[in-house]
Amino acid sequence: MFTLLNVAQPDTLQEAYKILTAKRSNTILGGSSYLRMGSQSIHTGVDLSKLGLQYIQETESFIEIGAMATLRNVEKHPALAKYFNGILPQAVSNIIGVQFRNVATVGASVFSRYGFSDLITALLVLDTEVELFHGGRMSLADFLDTPRTKDILTKVIIPVTGRQAAYYTLRNSASDYPLLAVAVSCYDNQWQIAVGARPTRAKLAVHAAGLLTAAAVAPEDIEQAAQQAAEELPFGDNMRASAEYRRAMCRVLVKRAVTEVAVCK
Ligand SMILES: Cc1cc2nc3c(=O)[nH]c(=O)nc-3n(C[C@H](O)[C@H](O)[C@H](O)COP(=O)(O)OP(=O)(O)OC[C@H]3O[C@@H](n4cnc5c(N)ncnc54)[C@H](O)[C@@H]3O)c2cc1C
Repeated sequence: MFTLLNVAQPDTLQEAYKILTAKRSNTILGGSSYLRMGSQSIHTGVDLSKLGLQYIQETESFIEIGAMATLRNVEKHPALAKYFNGILPQAVSNIIGVQFRNVATVGASVFSRYGFSDLITALLVLDTEVELFHGGRMSLADFLDTPRTKDILTKVIIPVTGRQAAYYTLRNSASDYPLLAVAVSCYDNQWQIAVGARPTRAKLAVHAAGLLTAAAVAPEDIEQAAQQAAEELPFGDNMRASAEYRRAMCRVLVKRAVTEVAVCK
């Protein structure tokens, strides 16, 4: 269990960032569900709950999800069920259980860049952007490639389009971490394929997606794209699965997800 010497509840993001960066061990608190798995000693925990960041807002062009929105908020929000074939509610629905999803937050899930993240895998195929208090706004794909620094993720922004999407995951048992996660989407004949829990963090299979076009979604094209995704991304071993098994399952799940999206289009 982690140890907290002090808790601060700042009224502004400026104040939160100032406290966060004042001491090396100062840390943002989301729902504290992952923090409590460690034994970190924290001088000041920065609780963001007075900053109005627990929201999901739909506008004409975007859906914005505030950092303190919980995974359960994502699961139950009508706008997220309406768009992208509901892949965001679907992606989080396997994470532990309802009580857990009531506390775990979107900000922590995205900022922490967990390799096993269901949410990041699904968000990656939706042209998602993130906003950081200090680092500003950038695509989620770029954020995942930037070195870790102390910052506060304030929201994620998803463009509202007619994007069709599908999400598949494989677990050894219900509520365990995924051993593979695959998300696929298509809008305006541009395909995106993301594979997470390899076991490292989700990545876009750019060349595989490039093999799919409006004219090229016949079963043999889908087979070729699935094969390419399995070849272009690195896979590793951990206690849940071997690299070889993950690569084989990547082919299967990408094929299923692309086929599902092709049918929806
Ligand atoms: C046992 C267990 C099983 C899990 N299984 C899965 C799974 O199968 N699939 C899956 O996708 N996820 C899984 N997760 C991860 C989970 O979904 C959450 O992402 C995670 O628990 C963090 O949620 P939290 O809000 O409680 O974060 P916290 O524990 O509060 O914080 C985690 C980290 O994020 C930082 N942080 C929090 N908010 C912000 C912010 N706004 N800006 C910057 N930094 C911030 C904190 O400082 C801390 O370093 C699991 C977690 C646990 C504990």
